[in-house]
Amino acid sequence: MDLRKIKEVVFKGFLANEEAVALYETAKIASLLGPCLEIGSYCGLSSVCLGLGCREVGGLLFSIDHHRGSEEQQAGQAYFDPELVDPRTGEIDTLPHFIRAIRAFSLEQTVIPIVASSVTVASVWKTPISLLFIDGGHSFKAVFGDYNSWLSHLMPGGYLLIHDIFSDASQGGQAPRCIYQLAIASGLFQEMGMVETMGILKRSPLESPNREAIRAWDLLR
Ligand code: MG
Repeated sequence: MDLRKIKEVVFKGFLANEEAVALYETAKIASLLGPCLEIGSYCGLSSVCLGLGCREVGGLLFSIDHHRGSEEQQAGQAYFDPELVDPRTGEIDTLPHFIRAIRAFSLEQTVIPIVASSVTVASVWKTPISLLFIDGGHSFKAVFGDYNSWLSHLMPGGYLLIHDIFSDASQGGQAPRCIYQLAIASGLFQEMGMVETMGILKRSPLESPNREAIRAWDLLR
């Protein structure tokens, strides 16, 4: 798995080389247990890394994104990219970029796009997932919504990966760091360590959860 080669095809995305390798390797292990799920497909960079790992062992990746860009990617915001604007509508549309990336790596039978809000999908989801990668919108509302709505779908022994964890608030928003710390405080996870800004946790096969800390949103209200 060589991120440089992937980036020759998938130009847009925010992922360090070590993070890309960690996604690939963790997906390969997790896929032996069940399907993986990613929140925040964007233009497909992380989806390709996860998908290549899934494919090695015959697994699947569900990749959720509304593809209209998160708050920080809208016009006037820090991560706005005019190349992602659909000229017909004047709005962000990352879906064509995502589809192109998946096809370029022949991952159509491995990576399954779900074009919707993650909270909406979670409300009817029934299949236990082996890996949950949270990398969607970075506002507190978006991050806690993703965490609260999907945590219960992660199977014991499954992996929780959270991107963009910054200990220094001047380097990035603090919402991902908050759910990372809440996940640790829940008692549900073993810490597997940090890879650059990606936190990796493994849901304990045998659980003695601190249930008061599981639903972060309830605590903050
Ligand atoms: Mg990210």
